[in-house]
Amino acid sequence: MVSAVRECEVHAKQNGGRRISAVSVVVPGTVNVDRGIVVKAPNLSALDGFHLSEQLTSQLGYSSVLENDANAAAVGEMWMGAGRGRSAIVCVTLGTGVGGGIILNGELWRGVDGAAAEIGHMCVDPFGGVACTCGSRGCLEVFASATAIVRMTREASPRYPDSVLHASDSLTAETIFAAGLDGDELALEIFRRMGVYLGIGLANLINILNPEMIVIGGGVVNGWDLFAKDMVQQVEERAFPLLAARVKIERAKCGDDAGLLGAARLAAM
Ligand SMILES: [Zn+2]
Repeated sequence: MVSAVRECEVHAKQNGGRRISAVSVVVPGTVNVDRGIVVKAPNLSALDGFHLSEQLTSQLGYSSVLENDANAAAVGEMWMGAGRGRSAIVCVTLGTGVGGGIILNGELWRGVDGAAAEIGHMCVDPFGGVACTCGSRGCLEVFASATAIVRMTREASPRYPDSVLHASDSLTAETIFAAGLDGDELALEIFRRMGVYLGIGLANLINILNPEMIVIGGGVVNGWDLFAKDMVQQVEERAFPLLAARVKIERAKCGDDAGLLGAARLAAM
């Protein structure tokens, strides 16, 4: 991180002597924003308990801002993306896992410990028994992430002997999506199921938060054309009609840059 900032300093100097005023870091995990501490990062456990902001400030001399990656993505989408001009939005990131960010009255809702908006760990199937990395079962993440799409495809494949996916050596959410576009019944069924589970999760969020907009991003959103219909149908069936009619459900617009943009915005706030 320190060397990346040093590189930015060189670029800033070359570009008319622009000055760096702060360093902003986003981490995939729970962070204490006020104290600049990484509380728990399951995929970067070496950082657990690390006073990251303090270390960066002492080594670089800039003030330093720390945020959770999905929260930063939500801020990015509100600032420059699909949620522009709105103040009550929920951002859902469908990637390897399922992340979330909640903005209420124009501000991130972080919860009392900085761990709010774990949308991927909302239970959407109490009887299915699919274990989640969080220790619970039946979480949205085990039905709507890229990992889940691959797992569900493998599980369902014996029922679809004619699927082109049997010949695929390396199943990924992308190859399954491509097969679905070509009309492969197995792929279509998996994206339909994914859309149903996602829609159940969104209906719960809509009834609890009454957001203006739900922004869906992450790599899996590329499968939108195959899952959106079932997702919307579940929202219409399960959410309060008034709230379901009000909320706009849209694809994210900032792509992989949402977190970067949000980090920049948060440093300037
Ligand atoms: Zn979970």
